[in-house]
Amino acid sequence: MPFPTLRTWFEKKPSVEPPRKDRSHLRVGIAKVLNVWSTHQFWVGFLKELGISSENIVFSSDTSEEQGREFGKGRGTVDCCYPVKCISGHYGELVFGQKRNINILLSPMIHSLPSILHGHVVDTVTCTRVMAGPESIKAGFLKESDIFAENKILYASPFVSLGDRHMVTQQLFTSLKNIFDLDMEETARAVKAGFDALDNFTAKARQQSRDILTWCAENGKPCILVLARPYHMDPGIGHEIEGELQAHGYPILWLQYLPGDDDLVNWLFEEDVKTGRIKSPFDISDVWTSSYSSNTNEIMWGAKFATRCPWITCVVRLSSYECGMDQPTYTPAQKIVEATGTLYFKFGDLDSTKPGGGIKIRVETIVHYLSKYSAEIIQRKLNCLSPDCPLVGARRSDPAVST
Ligand code: SF4
Repeated sequence: MPFPTLRTWFEKKPSVEPPRKDRSHLRVGIAKVLNVWSTHQFWVGFLKELGISSENIVFSSDTSEEQGREFGKGRGTVDCCYPVKCISGHYGELVFGQKRNINILLSPMIHSLPSILHGHVVDTVTCTRVMAGPESIKAGFLKESDIFAENKILYASPFVSLGDRHMVTQQLFTSLKNIFDLDMEETARAVKAGFDALDNFTAKARQQSRDILTWCAENGKPCILVLARPYHMDPGIGHEIEGELQAHGYPILWLQYLPGDDDLVNWLFEEDVKTGRIKSPFDISDVWTSSYSSNTNEIMWGAKFATRCPWITCVVRLSSYECGMDQPTYTPAQKIVEATGTLYFKFGDLDSTKPGGGIKIRVETIVHYLSKYSAEIIQRKLNCLSPDCPLVGARRSDPAVST
């Protein structure tokens, strides 16, 4: 066994933590776009652990046409779907629209995502437009001169595989070490803090969805599931269609936060697992074999969940204009949902302008169908499941059905 030399001896881990670097003066702007909508807590936890206070972490506003007009005009570089195109407005707002200037603009290139389906699907990567979006938008701020440098802003766009946690520390250390003056140990601590924050938030949101389903089960009431990508939660991308429906008294669930508790998914998927159709409740190979894309996989799983869950009597599908990823999922998702008579309504081709009048008329149609058919749908789906519903606890499932 080699004896430690003086140098290696002193390189051993110190018994006290080294003093934290002072980053309290740094102000970081994050573009609230694309998959930042489902991973924001990671970035907040990561930056806070590095010593950046909450008030110095600034997210850009929700997407809007005004934001694009005021801050993104003339900086477009790509002709593609609106969720990517609108990023110019977010960058512009962070650069030109702050009362107190930011020092760093953080816009991660997220290559893969954490997913409830991890281990049950081929991969959990993002759409290539999502991943490369920050790079193409950056070009619009460099074409005549370097707008970031002129405004004394460091542009940071780390390539990161949030779905492959073991890779994240190295990736963020490599890409951010000069921006934040990082060392490897503090990067590892910050990454852990980021995932802890994200996991806590996701667990709480899933619990809230379960509470909603429990309330529906106990009262025999219907709810609506939104099948969409995380950034359709942005009022400027999804146009708050779900909010219009909620105003009529129907609770809303988002597929990203469906509860994945064993008791519930085993109850819903019991028959399919028993017959060997699928290996686990999170297996989607029966409906979607090329399961590489994280958000697409979850859309397909959400459709399977919805068609089985009695109190989800209606699915609202949102999709953006020119989305090549959604295109092949339209028919299978609709067929899955409608297989049990669950109502299905699609708002496709969403773009920058909110089609207010059209939404209003369709919302009224949806509400009419929900009030007319929900009781029947709940009962029909309950008849296909075992009576031991975990949502109504010790009491055997015999909920009143009303709308
Ligand atoms: S998934 Fe669709 S909407 Fe999202 S970035 Fe890719 S092409 Fe655009």
